[in-house]
Amino acid sequence: MKIKEILTEVKRIALKTPFITALRRVETIEFVRAKVLCDDGSLGIGEAPATFAITGEDIPIILSSIKSTKEKLLGKDILTSLELLHKMSIGSSAKAALDMAFVSLLINEKCQTPLEYFNIKDKRAIQTDITISLNHKEKMFADAKEALQNGMDILKVKLGSDISHAIEVTKLLSYELPSAKLLIDANQAWSLDESLKYVNAVEDLNIELIEQPVVADDLESLKIITNATKIPILADEATFTLEDVKRAYESSCADMINIKLMKCGGVTKAIEILEYAREKKIICMLGSMLEGPYSINAALYLAFAYRDVIKYVDLDSPLLYKEAPSELDFNFFKNSISIVRDKS
Ligand SMILES: [Mg+2]
Repeated sequence: MKIKEILTEVKRIALKTPFITALRRVETIEFVRAKVLCDDGSLGIGEAPATFAITGEDIPIILSSIKSTKEKLLGKDILTSLELLHKMSIGSSAKAALDMAFVSLLINEKCQTPLEYFNIKDKRAIQTDITISLNHKEKMFADAKEALQNGMDILKVKLGSDISHAIEVTKLLSYELPSAKLLIDANQAWSLDESLKYVNAVEDLNIELIEQPVVADDLESLKIITNATKIPILADEATFTLEDVKRAYESSCADMINIKLMKCGGVTKAIEILEYAREKKIICMLGSMLEGPYSINAALYLAFAYRDVIKYVDLDSPLLYKEAPSELDFNFFKNSISIVRDKS
C-alpha cells in the first residue's frame, strides 16, 4: 500500500453556544480534514482544528504544512511515511491529522477493526467532562446547574485572569453544587502569586484538580504551586511531547498530565506518552481541542485502550456541536460515551 495522493478540505461545525476560555472565544469549530489516498484505493482520514492560541497553527498554516509533506510522502508505504512525518519540522496539529490518517490505513492494511488494532477488550462506557465556559459568575453557575440537571456531573470549569472572579466562581460552584466534580482550568492565565492566592482560598473545597495555572514554560512556578497545595495540579500547555512529559515527571512539577493528539502529533505519539505514563504510573487526562468527528474518534479509541492510565476524559466536543455528525464511531449520552460501531 503506497500513498498516491494527499488531499485537504476545510470543514466547519457550528456550536450550540460560544466556547470561551482565558485564551479564546469560538462559535464555530473550524478544522482541516486530510484525506490520504493509496494506490490500492484505500482511504485514510485525519483532522486538525485551528487552535493558534495553543499550537501556533491556524488553518492556512495547517494546509500549507500538510501540502509541504507531499513531496516526501507520495509513493511511500505507510510505516515509512509515519517515520518521515515525525521527523519533519511542521506543527503538531498538521502532523496529528496525517498521523491519524496513516494509523487508519495501517488498521485497513492489517484487515483489523480499530477495537482489534487498539486491543480494546473492556467496552464499558467511559465518562467525559463537559466544559463550562468563562463568563460572569451568574452565567457560569446557571450553565453548571443546567449541566448537572442534564446528567453531566464532571465539569471542566474555564477560569480567567481575574483571580477574585476565579475564587468566587469556584466557591459558588463548590458550595451550591456539591455533587459536581470540578476540574478547574486556568489555561495559563495566572501569575505565581495569583495561583498561590487561589489555591489558598479554595484548598478545603471539593476540587478534583487545577489545570495549567501558569504559563506553559514556567515549570518552576508550576512546581511551587504543586508543592503548595494538596489539590492535584495538572500540566496541559506545559506538556506537548513525550520529552515534555518526561521533563515534567522528572522535575515533579505537576501531579498529572493532559495528553492531546494535537499537542503531541497524533495517535502514534500519544501511544508513546501513554506507555510511558503507564510505566511511571502518571495519572493522565486525555483531552482535545474543539475538534471534528474523526479526530475525536481517534482520541476515544485511545481513551478506551488506556482506561487504566486515563483518569479523566475531556472529549466533549460532540456534546457542543449544534448537530451530531454521522462520522462518529461513538454514542454520546449525557456524559457517557459508548462504542456504537466497530468498523474496519
Ligand atoms: Mg487545558
